[in-house]
Order: sequence, then C-alpha cells, then structure tokens
Amino acid sequence: MDVGSKNNAFLPLTAATVQEMPLSSSQPSAEYLKWLDRAKPGAVQAKSSDRFEIPEFRSSAMKMKTNLMNFREVSQALNRDMRHMYKYFMKALATSGSIHEDYVVLKGKFSRAQLSEVLKNYVEQYVVCPVCRRPDTVIMKEGEFYFLICDACGARSPVKRV
Ligand SMILES: [Zn+2]
Repeated sequence: MDVGSKNNAFLPLTAATVQEMPLSSSQPSAEYLKWLDRAKPGAVQAKSSDRFEIPEFRSSAMKMKTNLMNFREVSQALNRDMRHMYKYFMKALATSGSIHEDYVVLKGKFSRAQLSEVLKNYVEQYVVCPVCRRPDTVIMKEGEFYFLICDACGARSPVKRV
C-alpha cells in the first residue's frame, strides 16, 4: 500500500503531466493553485482525512430502481452496520427500497455521483472522527443517545440518530 501511494505521489512531476498544467493566464487559476497545493511535499500528510479513501459503489440503475451491488462490502469497509447505512440512504434520497444479504435496491434512478455524495456525507457524519479526522471509530448507544467513539484519539462525539 505504501509503495503504491508513493508512486502516485510522483506522478504529477512527470513531464507529460506538467505540460497539461494550465499556464496560459497571467493570474493562476484556482485549478492550478489546487494542483500546486497537492504537489507540495507534505501536503498529503497535513490533512489526514485525505489518506482515507471512501470506497465506491458498484451500482446499476434500471427502470425505476437502483441496485447497489456491493452495499455490504462498502459498509464493511467503513466498519458500519449495513442497516444503519441503508436507513441513512433511504432518508437522504427520500426513497424506499429493500435490503438483501449483500446488496440494496433503492426505488428510483440514482446516479453514481448522487450515491457517492450521499456516502461522503454518511462518512462525514458517522465514520470520520470530528476531532482527529481518522475513520477508526465505532458507534455506541448510551441510553437515548448515540456517540461516535474514536479508537485513534479516544474522542467521544455525539451523533444524530439516523
Ligand atoms: Zn479521533
């Protein structure tokens, strides 16, 4: 894993990539500044959340349904209960659906972009520790309340019930 990410970090420095950079205008574009920021050594370490990659859904939309084929896999990768995530998705997309052993079918057609956006919000609210930004957390119920407990820094942050 480490070797792979190191290789990726070198990619923006190749001649081919540099030629693709927007150099035309006198004022550097936002894109260019963003690129510079990313190209800076150490920029990746500065925000630890960047190292955490949110898994992607394999989905197919057919007629009036969307099948999220690897829903269980994604929930496992995030170490979250599949039903918890499913409830969140139904709420966020204001739809209903059905939950199966490995997959979930939602009523309505949803694009990959929509699904990743919802997943991103879910991760933001229910996976990533708001204190240290690490994803090594568990959700615990205490009485009426839910808390996100962080394994990495020990923070206990209240979370909303889905
Ligand atoms: Zn933490």
